[in-house]
Amino acid sequence: MVVVVEQNATEKDIEGIIRILNDFGFDVHRSTGVNQTVLGAIGVKPDFDTRQIEVLPGVAHAYRITEPYKLASRSFRQEKSVFKFKNCEIGGDSIVVMAGPCSVENEKQIFTIAESVAKAGAKFLRGGAFKPRSSPYAFQGLGEDGLKLMRRAADEFGLLVISEAMDSNQIEVVEKYSDIIQIGARNMQNYNFLRELGKSSKPVLLKRGLSATFEEWLMSAEYILSGGNQQVMMCERGIRTFETATRNTMDISAIPVIHAKSHLPIIADPSHGIGIRDKVIPMARAAVAAGADGIIVEVHNDPDHAKSDGAQSLFPNQFEEMMKQLRVIAEAIGRKIA
Ligand code: PEP
Ligand code: MN
Repeated sequence: MVVVVEQNATEKDIEGIIRILNDFGFDVHRSTGVNQTVLGAIGVKPDFDTRQIEVLPGVAHAYRITEPYKLASRSFRQEKSVFKFKNCEIGGDSIVVMAGPCSVENEKQIFTIAESVAKAGAKFLRGGAFKPRSSPYAFQGLGEDGLKLMRRAADEFGLLVISEAMDSNQIEVVEKYSDIIQIGARNMQNYNFLRELGKSSKPVLLKRGLSATFEEWLMSAEYILSGGNQQVMMCERGIRTFETATRNTMDISAIPVIHAKSHLPIIADPSHGIGIRDKVIPMARAAVAAGADGIIVEVHNDPDHAKSDGAQSLFPNQFEEMMKQLRVIAEAIGRKIA
Protein backbone atom coordinates (compact mmCIF):
# COMPACT_ATOMS: atom_id res chain seq x y z
CA MET A 1 0.00 0.00 0.00
CA VAL A 2 1.20 3.51 -0.78
CA VAL A 3 0.24 6.24 1.69
CA VAL A 4 0.49 9.80 0.38
CA VAL A 5 0.83 12.30 3.21
CA GLU A 6 -0.88 15.71 3.05
CA GLN A 7 1.48 18.56 2.20
CA ASN A 8 0.68 20.45 5.40
CA ALA A 9 0.92 17.39 7.69
CA THR A 10 3.15 17.87 10.73
CA GLU A 11 6.01 15.59 11.74
CA LYS A 12 3.80 14.46 14.63
CA ASP A 13 1.04 13.44 12.15
CA ILE A 14 3.57 11.44 10.11
CA GLU A 15 4.93 9.67 13.17
CA GLY A 16 1.34 8.86 14.20
CA ILE A 17 0.59 7.34 10.78
CA ILE A 18 3.77 5.24 10.89
CA ARG A 19 2.95 4.01 14.40
CA ILE A 20 -0.51 2.87 13.36
CA LEU A 21 0.84 1.19 10.21
CA ASN A 22 3.33 -0.65 12.42
CA ASP A 23 0.49 -1.62 14.79
CA PHE A 24 -1.31 -3.18 11.79
CA GLY A 25 1.85 -5.20 11.14
CA PHE A 26 3.20 -3.34 8.11
CA ASP A 27 6.86 -2.67 7.36
CA VAL A 28 7.03 1.03 6.58
CA HIS A 29 9.44 2.74 4.18
CA ARG A 30 9.45 6.52 4.24
CA SER A 31 10.48 8.80 1.40
CA THR A 32 10.55 12.50 2.05
CA GLY A 33 10.86 14.98 -0.81
CA VAL A 34 11.01 18.78 -0.68
CA ASN A 35 7.35 19.21 0.19
CA GLN A 36 5.87 15.71 -0.10
CA THR A 37 6.16 12.57 2.02
CA VAL A 38 5.14 9.14 0.77
CA LEU A 39 5.01 6.00 2.93
CA GLY A 40 5.32 2.53 1.47
CA ALA A 41 3.56 -0.09 3.63
CA ILE A 42 4.63 -3.66 2.89
CA GLY A 43 2.65 -6.72 3.96
CA VAL A 44 -0.94 -5.71 3.16
CA LYS A 45 -3.37 -8.60 3.75
CA PRO A 46 -5.97 -9.17 0.99
CA ASP A 47 -8.81 -8.10 3.27
CA PHE A 48 -7.20 -4.91 4.61
CA ASP A 49 -9.51 -1.90 4.33
CA THR A 50 -7.40 1.05 3.14
CA ARG A 51 -9.99 3.45 4.56
CA GLN A 52 -8.56 2.58 8.02
CA ILE A 53 -5.50 4.58 6.96
CA GLU A 54 -7.26 7.16 4.82
CA VAL A 55 -9.19 8.50 7.82
CA LEU A 56 -6.02 9.23 9.85
CA PRO A 57 -4.99 12.88 10.33
CA GLY A 58 -2.39 13.90 7.75
CA VAL A 59 -3.25 11.22 5.16
CA ALA A 60 -4.15 12.46 1.65
CA HIS A 61 -4.62 9.02 0.00
CA ALA A 62 -3.92 5.34 0.62
CA TYR A 63 -3.66 3.08 -2.44
CA ARG A 64 -3.50 -0.68 -2.55
CA ILE A 65 -0.90 -1.86 -5.06
CA THR A 66 -1.67 -5.60 -5.00
CA GLU A 67 -5.01 -7.15 -6.02
CA PRO A 68 -7.33 -8.33 -3.23
CA TYR A 69 -7.96 -11.54 -5.22
CA LYS A 70 -5.19 -14.08 -5.38
CA LEU A 71 -6.17 -17.40 -6.98
CA ALA A 72 -7.96 -15.60 -9.84
CA SER A 73 -5.01 -13.34 -10.62
CA ARG A 74 -2.41 -13.51 -13.37
CA SER A 75 0.31 -13.11 -10.79
CA PHE A 76 -0.81 -16.39 -9.20
CA ARG A 77 -0.92 -18.20 -12.55
CA GLN A 78 0.84 -16.72 -15.59
CA GLU A 79 -0.54 -19.06 -18.25
CA LYS A 80 -4.24 -19.06 -19.18
CA SER A 81 -6.43 -21.74 -17.61
CA VAL A 82 -7.73 -24.27 -20.13
CA PHE A 83 -10.66 -26.52 -19.25
CA LYS A 84 -11.12 -29.77 -21.15
CA PHE A 85 -14.52 -31.11 -22.19
CA LYS A 86 -15.59 -34.15 -24.15
CA ASN A 87 -15.94 -32.28 -27.45
CA CYS A 88 -13.75 -29.17 -26.99
CA GLU A 89 -11.62 -27.14 -24.60
CA ILE A 90 -12.29 -23.67 -23.24
CA GLY A 91 -9.50 -21.13 -22.77
CA GLY A 92 -7.20 -22.47 -25.49
CA ASP A 93 -6.81 -21.32 -29.10
CA SER A 94 -10.32 -22.34 -30.13
CA ILE A 95 -13.42 -20.29 -29.42
CA VAL A 96 -16.37 -22.29 -28.12
CA VAL A 97 -19.95 -21.43 -29.03
CA MET A 98 -22.84 -22.19 -26.67
CA ALA A 99 -26.33 -21.68 -28.10
CA GLY A 100 -29.94 -22.39 -27.32
CA PRO A 101 -33.10 -20.84 -25.98
CA CYS A 102 -33.33 -18.61 -22.93
CA SER A 103 -35.63 -21.22 -21.33
CA VAL A 104 -36.36 -24.85 -22.06
CA GLU A 105 -40.08 -24.87 -22.90
CA ASN A 106 -40.99 -28.30 -24.23
CA GLU A 107 -39.54 -31.35 -25.94
CA LYS A 108 -40.21 -30.28 -29.51
CA GLN A 109 -38.74 -26.81 -28.95
CA ILE A 110 -35.48 -27.97 -27.36
CA PHE A 111 -34.90 -30.82 -29.84
CA THR A 112 -35.55 -28.52 -32.83
CA ILE A 113 -33.16 -25.88 -31.52
CA ALA A 114 -30.49 -28.40 -30.47
CA GLU A 115 -30.49 -29.93 -33.95
CA SER A 116 -30.08 -26.59 -35.72
CA VAL A 117 -27.38 -25.16 -33.43
CA ALA A 118 -25.40 -28.42 -33.55
CA LYS A 119 -25.56 -28.39 -37.34
CA ALA A 120 -24.25 -24.82 -37.43
CA GLY A 121 -21.29 -25.68 -35.16
CA ALA A 122 -22.28 -25.01 -31.53
CA LYS A 123 -20.56 -27.21 -28.91
CA PHE A 124 -22.90 -26.52 -25.99
CA LEU A 125 -26.67 -26.36 -25.73
CA ARG A 126 -27.72 -23.52 -23.43
CA GLY A 127 -31.13 -23.25 -21.78
CA GLY A 128 -32.56 -22.33 -18.43
CA ALA A 129 -34.63 -24.79 -16.41
CA PHE A 130 -34.53 -22.55 -13.32
CA LYS A 131 -35.17 -18.99 -14.45
CA PRO A 132 -34.35 -15.80 -12.52
CA ARG A 133 -37.29 -13.66 -13.69
CA SER A 134 -37.88 -10.03 -12.70
CA SER A 135 -41.55 -10.86 -12.17
CA PRO A 136 -42.84 -13.64 -9.92
CA TYR A 137 -45.76 -14.02 -12.39
CA ALA A 138 -43.49 -14.73 -15.38
CA PHE A 139 -42.57 -18.27 -16.55
CA GLN A 140 -40.18 -19.69 -13.95
CA GLY A 141 -38.82 -22.66 -15.92
CA LEU A 142 -39.54 -26.39 -16.06
CA GLY A 143 -37.09 -27.35 -13.28
CA GLU A 144 -35.73 -30.90 -13.34
CA ASP A 145 -38.05 -31.90 -16.23
CA GLY A 146 -36.43 -29.16 -18.31
CA LEU A 147 -32.95 -30.40 -17.43
CA LYS A 148 -33.89 -33.93 -18.46
CA LEU A 149 -35.16 -32.68 -21.83
CA MET A 150 -31.99 -30.65 -22.40
CA ARG A 151 -29.74 -33.58 -21.57
CA ARG A 152 -31.57 -35.84 -24.01
CA ALA A 153 -31.57 -33.22 -26.76
CA ALA A 154 -27.88 -32.45 -26.25
CA ASP A 155 -26.89 -36.15 -26.26
CA GLU A 156 -28.91 -36.75 -29.40
CA PHE A 157 -26.98 -34.08 -31.34
CA GLY A 158 -23.50 -34.42 -29.79
CA LEU A 159 -23.71 -31.29 -27.65
CA LEU A 160 -22.84 -30.60 -24.01
CA VAL A 161 -25.20 -28.79 -21.63
CA ILE A 162 -24.91 -25.47 -19.81
CA SER A 163 -27.74 -24.52 -17.45
CA GLU A 164 -28.32 -22.21 -14.52
CA ALA A 165 -28.59 -22.98 -10.81
CA MET A 166 -30.20 -20.17 -8.78
CA ASP A 167 -29.70 -21.52 -5.32
CA SER A 168 -27.45 -23.85 -3.31
CA ASN A 169 -30.22 -26.44 -3.14
CA GLN A 170 -30.36 -26.59 -6.96
CA ILE A 171 -26.65 -27.37 -7.42
CA GLU A 172 -27.10 -31.13 -7.10
CA VAL A 173 -29.83 -31.43 -9.70
CA VAL A 174 -28.12 -29.09 -12.18
CA GLU A 175 -24.82 -30.99 -11.74
CA LYS A 176 -26.61 -34.21 -12.57
CA TYR A 177 -27.73 -33.10 -16.06
CA SER A 178 -25.43 -30.23 -16.97
CA ASP A 179 -21.74 -30.04 -17.95
CA ILE A 180 -21.34 -26.42 -16.84
CA ILE A 181 -23.28 -24.70 -14.06
CA GLN A 182 -24.27 -21.16 -15.03
CA ILE A 183 -24.49 -18.55 -12.27
CA GLY A 184 -26.76 -15.66 -13.20
CA ALA A 185 -25.89 -11.98 -13.00
CA ARG A 186 -28.26 -11.48 -10.07
CA ASN A 187 -26.47 -14.13 -8.03
CA MET A 188 -22.91 -12.90 -8.57
CA GLN A 189 -22.82 -11.53 -5.04
CA ASN A 190 -24.64 -14.38 -3.33
CA TYR A 191 -21.55 -15.33 -1.35
CA ASN A 192 -22.97 -18.38 0.49
CA PHE A 193 -24.03 -19.81 -2.86
CA LEU A 194 -20.57 -19.10 -4.38
CA ARG A 195 -18.95 -20.91 -1.46
CA GLU A 196 -21.13 -23.97 -2.09
CA LEU A 197 -20.12 -23.91 -5.78
CA GLY A 198 -16.53 -24.16 -4.59
CA LYS A 199 -17.36 -27.73 -3.55
CA SER A 200 -18.78 -28.73 -6.94
CA SER A 201 -16.80 -30.90 -9.35
CA LYS A 202 -18.49 -29.20 -12.32
CA PRO A 203 -17.11 -26.09 -14.06
CA VAL A 204 -18.91 -22.84 -13.31
CA LEU A 205 -19.75 -19.95 -15.66
CA LEU A 206 -19.92 -16.82 -13.50
CA LYS A 207 -21.91 -14.01 -15.06
CA ARG A 208 -20.99 -10.44 -14.26
CA GLY A 209 -23.40 -8.65 -11.91
CA LEU A 210 -25.43 -5.80 -13.38
CA SER A 211 -23.31 -3.16 -11.68
CA ALA A 212 -20.19 -5.11 -10.73
CA THR A 213 -16.69 -3.73 -11.17
CA PHE A 214 -13.99 -6.05 -12.51
CA GLU A 215 -12.58 -6.30 -9.00
CA GLU A 216 -15.94 -7.27 -7.44
CA TRP A 217 -16.53 -9.83 -10.17
CA LEU A 218 -13.07 -11.37 -9.72
CA MET A 219 -13.60 -11.44 -5.95
CA SER A 220 -16.75 -13.50 -6.59
CA ALA A 221 -14.67 -15.89 -8.72
CA GLU A 222 -12.23 -16.01 -5.81
CA TYR A 223 -15.02 -17.36 -3.55
CA ILE A 224 -15.49 -20.35 -5.87
CA LEU A 225 -11.75 -20.89 -6.44
CA SER A 226 -10.90 -20.67 -2.75
CA GLY A 227 -13.66 -23.18 -2.04
CA GLY A 228 -11.69 -25.72 -4.08
CA ASN A 229 -13.27 -25.53 -7.55
CA GLN A 230 -10.58 -24.39 -10.01
CA GLN A 231 -12.85 -24.47 -13.07
CA VAL A 232 -14.32 -20.98 -13.20
CA MET A 233 -15.15 -19.06 -16.37
CA MET A 234 -16.11 -15.40 -16.42
CA CYS A 235 -19.07 -14.22 -18.54
CA GLU A 236 -19.59 -10.61 -19.66
CA ARG A 237 -23.33 -10.15 -20.19
CA GLY A 238 -23.75 -6.37 -20.21
CA ILE A 239 -24.03 -3.90 -17.37
CA ARG A 240 -26.51 -1.22 -16.28
CA THR A 241 -25.60 2.24 -17.49
CA PHE A 242 -27.44 5.53 -18.11
CA GLU A 243 -28.27 4.38 -21.66
CA THR A 244 -31.87 3.36 -22.26
CA ALA A 245 -31.78 2.54 -26.00
CA THR A 246 -30.53 -0.98 -25.28
CA ARG A 247 -31.39 -3.48 -22.53
CA ASN A 248 -27.83 -3.41 -21.15
CA THR A 249 -24.52 -1.94 -22.23
CA MET A 250 -22.21 -4.70 -23.42
CA ASP A 251 -18.80 -3.98 -21.97
CA ILE A 252 -16.42 -5.32 -24.61
CA SER A 253 -13.51 -3.86 -22.62
CA ALA A 254 -14.13 -6.58 -20.00
CA ILE A 255 -12.60 -9.10 -22.39
CA PRO A 256 -9.04 -7.74 -22.66
CA VAL A 257 -9.11 -6.38 -19.11
CA ILE A 258 -10.12 -9.69 -17.50
CA HIS A 259 -7.52 -11.47 -19.63
CA ALA A 260 -4.86 -9.08 -18.32
CA LYS A 261 -5.93 -9.39 -14.68
CA SER A 262 -6.80 -13.09 -14.63
CA HIS A 263 -5.90 -16.47 -16.11
CA LEU A 264 -9.59 -17.48 -16.24
CA PRO A 265 -11.34 -17.84 -19.61
CA ILE A 266 -13.92 -15.22 -20.55
CA ILE A 267 -17.12 -15.93 -22.46
CA ALA A 268 -19.25 -13.17 -24.00
CA ASP A 269 -23.06 -13.14 -23.93
CA PRO A 270 -24.15 -10.71 -26.65
CA SER A 271 -27.85 -11.65 -26.22
CA HIS A 272 -28.21 -10.25 -22.70
CA GLY A 273 -25.35 -7.84 -23.46
CA ILE A 274 -27.49 -5.74 -25.79
CA GLY A 275 -30.94 -7.34 -25.63
CA ILE A 276 -32.06 -6.57 -29.21
CA ARG A 277 -32.02 -9.33 -31.83
CA ASP A 278 -30.63 -7.41 -34.81
CA LYS A 279 -27.72 -6.09 -32.75
CA VAL A 280 -26.65 -9.42 -31.26
CA ILE A 281 -24.49 -10.51 -34.21
CA PRO A 282 -22.41 -7.29 -34.33
CA MET A 283 -21.75 -7.67 -30.58
CA ALA A 284 -20.73 -11.31 -31.05
CA ARG A 285 -18.33 -10.25 -33.81
CA ALA A 286 -16.85 -7.56 -31.57
CA ALA A 287 -16.43 -10.01 -28.69
CA VAL A 288 -14.51 -12.51 -30.84
CA ALA A 289 -12.36 -9.72 -32.25
CA ALA A 290 -11.62 -8.56 -28.68
CA GLY A 291 -10.38 -12.04 -27.69
CA ALA A 292 -13.35 -13.81 -26.05
CA ASP A 293 -12.77 -17.52 -25.40
CA GLY A 294 -16.39 -18.30 -26.17
CA ILE A 295 -19.80 -16.94 -27.06
CA ILE A 296 -23.07 -17.86 -25.34
CA VAL A 297 -26.04 -16.82 -27.43
CA GLU A 298 -29.81 -17.24 -27.36
CA VAL A 299 -31.37 -18.99 -30.38
CA HIS A 300 -35.06 -19.91 -30.74
CA ASN A 301 -36.99 -21.66 -33.51
CA ASP A 302 -40.04 -19.45 -32.85
CA PRO A 303 -38.81 -16.39 -30.95
CA ASP A 304 -42.11 -14.53 -31.42
CA HIS A 305 -43.72 -17.08 -29.12
CA ALA A 306 -40.76 -17.69 -26.77
CA LYS A 307 -41.60 -17.85 -23.05
CA SER A 308 -38.62 -15.58 -22.26
CA ASP A 309 -36.20 -13.30 -24.10
CA GLY A 310 -37.68 -13.86 -27.57
CA ALA A 311 -36.76 -10.31 -28.61
CA GLN A 312 -33.06 -11.01 -28.18
CA SER A 313 -33.09 -14.57 -29.56
CA LEU A 314 -31.66 -15.24 -33.01
CA PHE A 315 -33.55 -17.24 -35.62
CA PRO A 316 -31.67 -20.45 -36.51
CA ASN A 317 -30.67 -19.07 -39.93
CA GLN A 318 -29.24 -15.94 -38.27
CA PHE A 319 -27.22 -18.17 -35.96
CA GLU A 320 -25.83 -20.01 -38.96
CA GLU A 321 -24.84 -16.71 -40.54
CA MET A 322 -23.25 -15.55 -37.25
CA MET A 323 -21.12 -18.72 -37.15
CA LYS A 324 -19.86 -18.07 -40.68
CA GLN A 325 -18.86 -14.54 -39.79
CA LEU A 326 -17.21 -15.56 -36.50
CA ARG A 327 -15.06 -18.12 -38.32
CA VAL A 328 -13.60 -15.36 -40.51
CA ILE A 329 -12.92 -13.07 -37.54
CA ALA A 330 -11.38 -15.88 -35.47
CA GLU A 331 -9.02 -16.71 -38.30
CA ALA A 332 -7.98 -13.08 -38.66
CA ILE A 333 -6.72 -13.09 -35.07
CA GLY A 334 -5.01 -16.50 -35.29
CA ARG A 335 -7.77 -18.50 -33.62
CA LYS A 336 -10.55 -20.76 -34.80
CA ILE A 337 -14.10 -21.65 -33.83
CA ALA A 338 -14.05 -25.02 -32.02
C1 PEP B 1 -29.88 -16.18 -19.04
O1 PEP B 1 -28.78 -16.60 -19.42
O2 PEP B 1 -30.95 -16.48 -19.62
C2 PEP B 1 -29.92 -15.21 -17.91
C3 PEP B 1 -30.98 -15.11 -17.13
O3 PEP B 1 -28.81 -14.47 -17.80
P1 PEP B 1 -28.38 -13.27 -16.79
O4 PEP B 1 -28.20 -13.90 -15.46
O5 PEP B 1 -27.09 -12.79 -17.40
O6 PEP B 1 -29.47 -12.25 -16.84
MN1 MN C 1 -32.27 -15.05 -21.21
